Amino acid sequence: MRREKSPWYSEGVPFSCVPDCGKCCDQPGGVVFLARHDAEKIAAHKGMDVQSWLDLDCRRSADGRWVIQSNPHDGSCIYLEDDKSCSIYEVKPDQCSAFPWWNENMRSSREWRKTVQLCPGLRQSDADIISLPVIQSHLKADAVAEKGFRVWNRDV
Ligand code: SF4
Repeated sequence: MRREKSPWYSEGVPFSCVPDCGKCCDQPGGVVFLARHDAEKIAAHKGMDVQSWLDLDCRRSADGRWVIQSNPHDGSCIYLEDDKSCSIYEVKPDQCSAFPWWNENMRSSREWRKTVQLCPGLRQSDADIISLPVIQSHLKADAVAEKGFRVWNRDV
């Protein structure tokens, strides 16, 4: 049997998120896909039923998956505050927690270079080393969220 090649990040990757940075939340055209449990926890946090919250604070991606709305004037996330904090931090979606460990960022060295350029947390000289199991669990959560959902009432 052929052995799987270790991923390039198998020894871990240095990363420490920079407080009050917000660069991953203020990119015009940035898209946050939602897992069903993201929608449930954020709607509950807002004291709303899920469909009402989707209708108020979300929109459809080009292929119909629910994603969080962006500010029309600058394209940033609607939950990003002026001081770069997140107004739903306690219940933020899995994709937000998983950044920069997104499958689309890690699948090629070109995409990873772009991610390193965007995220100062990957350029800190004294950053923590994020281990392979932690990275893999974020990649898994990202994959579920990226699959997303199109219809709230019809569980799959
Ligand atoms: S861009 Fe990187 S350092 Fe900045 S908030 Fe996002 S994860 Fe943290």
